[in-house]
Amino acid sequence: MDNFAFLLPVTMALFGVTFLIVGATGQRVAFAWGLAFAFGAIGFTAPILPLPIKLQSLLANAVFLVSFFYYGEALLTHFRAPRLVTVRIVFALLVYAAIIVAVEGFESLPMELTIADLASAVLLGVPVCLVFWRAQTLAERALVAVATVVVVDIVARLFIFSVLVGLSPALADFAGSTYTFYMQASVGVLSVSFALAAMASVVDRMLAGYRDAAERDPLTGLLNRRGFDVAAALLSPADRQRGVVMTCDIDHFKTVNDSFGHAAGDAVLSGLADLLVSRMPAGSLVARFGGEEFVVLLRDVPLASSGALAQSIRADFSARDWRPAGVDRQITLCIGLAGVNPEDASLHDALARADRALYSAKANGRNRVMIDAGESYVASLRVVPATSAR
Ligand code: GH3
Ligand code: MG
Ligand code: MG
Repeated sequence: MDNFAFLLPVTMALFGVTFLIVGATGQRVAFAWGLAFAFGAIGFTAPILPLPIKLQSLLANAVFLVSFFYYGEALLTHFRAPRLVTVRIVFALLVYAAIIVAVEGFESLPMELTIADLASAVLLGVPVCLVFWRAQTLAERALVAVATVVVVDIVARLFIFSVLVGLSPALADFAGSTYTFYMQASVGVLSVSFALAAMASVVDRMLAGYRDAAERDPLTGLLNRRGFDVAAALLSPADRQRGVVMTCDIDHFKTVNDSFGHAAGDAVLSGLADLLVSRMPAGSLVARFGGEEFVVLLRDVPLASSGALAQSIRADFSARDWRPAGVDRQITLCIGLAGVNPEDASLHDALARADRALYSAKANGRNRVMIDAGESYVASLRVVPATSAR
């Protein structure tokens, strides 16, 4: 019994400090977990503080409310759910006023525990309900599951001891009661599980963030070369042996930068990225390999129909009014297409063929689509002259 009373605050304090250290690097969610566990630790220390018993219980109730407020805060922030800060603060203050009345006015331990436990269940339970369906990764599902068990445990404990067993109304009996023993045992196991699940989801989210930063182009939000390679490696072997690779390069882009400025050039790059994403069939990999060179892997699209798709993208791009971006002239692009062959060693073989088709489009006057067809490069059908495009 004494061991429980001693271990629980120490364990929670260690988790709290660990989360606060991670939170200090700018991780808001980790900081909220840190406050939740640290205040939880203080709450469990209250019974061993040399204070009058009423003061102990008022202190413990205050810090537990803060602790549960921050559990909710961490969950809502992690899952980007509405945080309802004002509502939750007002609720916690009203609950605390009720607890003061129960302790000082009625001097009723059952009343105090019932109010405090119900409030904890609400402060954690409402956020759990709001984020329940947002859990996606294994770590997030584990976190939501453990949080749910914590809420159920609070309610079940309250029900069992207040309704079925009955509480001793004397405050002095509290520290040695079966209620306290059971609470510390279940909270001990659950708080460690809760902290580990929270830690896993924080680490998971941080790693996903770094992975995303490493694999995405910040200007357009598209995959970068590394991201494209990673996504391609995740395709099934069958998927890696078919489809069409499209490379795309803006014509005389250097002169866009030179004449209208780098910011205007960036706006054109973003515009092309959006156009590509909006026109590609679901499941395509759209990437910016650097500069003004874009690469798309079209899956399940025959080479012939990819030519029509490329033509319509080329025509749309050349017809676009770039004046909102500060560019007062037509901009065109070239596209090279190549089918992926089963005998290719990697997608980069098809990319090299698409690149050759692209250079052939450049050499043949730009603003055109060329398809790699073995030895020769066939101009895609329906090459619309720039002036007549839309
Ligand atoms: P071509 O028709 O032969 O493709 O000519 P080009 O001028 O488009 O080709 P080149 O590869 O010589 O120039 C690419 C230019 O792209 C050079 C650089 O100024 C510009 N560029 C590369 N990255 C960025 C970027 O992130 N933002 C902007 N605004 N420009 C970029
Ligand atoms: Mg170019
Ligand atoms: Mg280029």
